[in-house]
Amino acid sequence: MNPQTLSLRALLFLGLWQTGRRCLASAPELKIQPQKIAVVGAGIGGTAAAFYLRQEFGPGVKIDVFEPDTVGGRLATVKFGDQDYETGGAVIHPLNLHMKHFIEKLGIPPRKDVPSKAAIFDGKELTFEESDWYIVNVLRMLWRYGFNFLRMHMWVETVLDKFMRIYQYQQYGYSFSSVDKLLHAMGGDGFLTLLNQTLEETMMAEGFSQVFINEVVSPITRVNYGQSVRLNGFVGAVSLAGADSGLWAVDGGNRRVCSGLLYISKTELITAKVTSISIKVRPSKSGTTTNFYEVNYVGESGSSHSLYDIVVIATPLHQGKSDIIFSGFSPLSRLTTPDATTRLSPL
Ligand SMILES: Cc1cc2nc3c(=O)[nH]c(=O)nc-3n(C[C@H](O)[C@H](O)[C@H](O)COP(=O)(O)OP(=O)(O)OC[C@H]3O[C@@H](n4cnc5c(N)ncnc54)[C@H](O)[C@@H]3O)c2cc1C
Repeated sequence: MNPQTLSLRALLFLGLWQTGRRCLASAPELKIQPQKIAVVGAGIGGTAAAFYLRQEFGPGVKIDVFEPDTVGGRLATVKFGDQDYETGGAVIHPLNLHMKHFIEKLGIPPRKDVPSKAAIFDGKELTFEESDWYIVNVLRMLWRYGFNFLRMHMWVETVLDKFMRIYQYQQYGYSFSSVDKLLHAMGGDGFLTLLNQTLEETMMAEGFSQVFINEVVSPITRVNYGQSVRLNGFVGAVSLAGADSGLWAVDGGNRRVCSGLLYISKTELITAKVTSISIKVRPSKSGTTTNFYEVNYVGESGSSHSLYDIVVIATPLHQGKSDIIFSGFSPLSRLTTPDATTRLSPL
């Protein structure tokens, strides 16, 4: 077994981790069953990873999740009085099948709908005000924006349809060595083009009117991401999906899902910040060598380290965010290796 291949497979990077059951090579196919796995970060990425790793490798593997802060990461709440309010990832799209699956598995109910109405204020006056009557809303939209609104929904649907392919890739155990490659597999060149132009440019090219972009699209991107329509076209499409109907949230806070996943996957939560990860090599029974990882961390009781067969990084790697030093390998060069899309085969 090529040690490079093993480490590439073993170290999965989870900026976009929404992994399905068979994203890793399935346990029976593995020649070497991992004994210990580390997951860095207990946001939804890390806790979902722990859940799927447990499913994949069964009860025999020890899974440690490192988190210096609150479980949930950017799924965060703040308490005012007796009420918890979402301050991070607040709403879940109906096509987020993983979150649906998780709350069913955990027996956590969705939050009851709080009826609300939308209005658009341009700084001087309300340019649109939602009515209780669906037909009135449709007519108002048609009157002011023609078919732009309907076309926006259709455009977002097209993007989401392609996005849904991710579930199939996960089901059949595909992995991708870069985000670009994953997006290309989902949406072809169209998705990559979206990455390289602004939402405004994208929508203008699709024939949407400037008035519609200013009065409807811009408030949506401002409310959802605090950004103008000059944000990246792909992120912009995701932001517009965040204005779809059917959005929901978890009763008591979305981050409950993260704690629940840690619990049912029987992982050990280590309250510590990972400072460095280095790759090591050891001889295997068969006479070849295998890779493993030394994870160094700092917790309340000081510095320590542990050894793992697999390390999953489920935290952004930006400088100033996770500050993890990688020794003996560079995760970013691995993310851009030209080996392209690979279907995981037995190790
Ligand atoms: C204000 C806001 C609103 C949002 N709204 C929505 C929304 O409505 N709907 C939606 O679907 N998404 C929304 N998102 C996006 C969504 O919240 C994130 O995509 C998602 O929570 C990211 O999860 P993650 O696990 O990848 O990362 P994170 O949640 O960031 O988790 C990473 C974890 O790693 C930990 N960590 C960092 N460094 C280390 C280290 N060195 N060692 C150990 N642990 C470390 C961090 O403490 C953190 O807990 C929103 C995000 C924000 C910020």
